[in-house]
Amino acid sequence: MKKIAILGSTGSIGTQTLDVVRNNKDLEVVALVAGSNIDLMEQQIKEFHPKMVSVWDEKKAEELEKRVNTSEVTVLSGMDGMIACATEKEVEIVVAAVVGMIGILPTVEAIKAGKDIALANKETLVCAGHIIMPLVKEYGVKLLPVDSEHSAIFQSLNGEHGNKISRILLTASGGPFRGKKREELVNIQVEDALKHPNWEMGRKITIDSSTMVNKGLEVMEAKWLFDVDIDTIEVVIQPQSVIHSMVEYEDGAVIAQLGTPDMRLPIQYALYYPERRDLPGERLNFYKLAKLDFMEPDMETFRGLKLAYEVGRKGGSMPTVFNAANEKAVAKFLNKEIRYLDIIEMIEYAIKEHQWMENPSVEDILRIEQEVYQLLENYKC
Ligand code: NDP
Ligand code: MG
Repeated sequence: MKKIAILGSTGSIGTQTLDVVRNNKDLEVVALVAGSNIDLMEQQIKEFHPKMVSVWDEKKAEELEKRVNTSEVTVLSGMDGMIACATEKEVEIVVAAVVGMIGILPTVEAIKAGKDIALANKETLVCAGHIIMPLVKEYGVKLLPVDSEHSAIFQSLNGEHGNKISRILLTASGGPFRGKKREELVNIQVEDALKHPNWEMGRKITIDSSTMVNKGLEVMEAKWLFDVDIDTIEVVIQPQSVIHSMVEYEDGAVIAQLGTPDMRLPIQYALYYPERRDLPGERLNFYKLAKLDFMEPDMETFRGLKLAYEVGRKGGSMPTVFNAANEKAVAKFLNKEIRYLDIIEMIEYAIKEHQWMENPSVEDILRIEQEVYQLLENYKC
């Protein structure tokens, strides 16, 4: 039995992880964490019988506690509850799939408790890669990527035993507004931006995909995961989302991982690495597919991607500012408080206002997050 904890079990990655558990009888759910969706958490408790769960919202946690048999499951709340789940002694691997920077601390604590990490929460590496990567080494745990592109890169590195990489080709669908120019994005509404052509994901990452900020975060994530210079990473638009990413070696050979867009594959691969298991679902039909397209990203229209390279090169506290500003701006856009193009303007403003720090601690990162939120709270577009 492989014992797992899922942080963010009620979300898109969390529910797909539970789908993988349903298909594999040797995975056991020990702990689950959610933000506030106690109806779904209650169902998950009934189906998967975790020993411990945590709900961020204290009131909701109390309500959930009344609904379940507390002699079978402990219900906790807040950051302490999330950390207790991430470090529960039986847990072997933690699926880090909460959304946002709230995922940093529990991931740090899980590593310190010797747990392997299946990482979906890219914000953790973007902001705290300089803390996470040395910790992973120090505690001798595995950090396994769940993000589909990073899983593809990871798979393309298999068996290469340190052979020199010349480029990482990080693929992107280009999102719903691929091919559009900036002027055409002025009147984009929340509903338009929530329509991703290939993937069903949570709301925040779907907006990030449409602005290509998600790709920018992924460039920074890849830099840390694969220990490469950020300019070794090149973004390639691949609208069909069939090639999930590629690695080019010194001799010009390009190794890629292909598949239908299904997040359960990278999730399952992370949970069983290096083993592959059967995964029910559609297979690629190359005859039907007939062709694959490739394009260069338009970094003028999708300025968020260009900005991500800039903050990634600068490093230190800049990626935190970029990420926190994006989180705040996207929340405001989803709330219909700002217009679509204001998202990037707000990120640029936060970057301009920031006093750079070279080596922020986790506490600094969380403080900077709050400062950026504060700064943008009253931002007039
Ligand atoms: P969702 O919005 O679908 O799910 C987020 C999860 O986090 C939910 O379970 C939510 O609980 C929980 N959560 C939110 N806030 C808190 C909190 N304060 N404390 C505890 N739990 C909390 O997001 P996704 O699943 O789409 O994304 C999760 C992460 O994975 C993100 O970092 C994203 O970038 C990354 N990722 C996602 C992919 C995808 O295909 N979806 C692909 C690659 C990466 P509740 O439901 O109760 O609000
Ligand atoms: Mg991705």
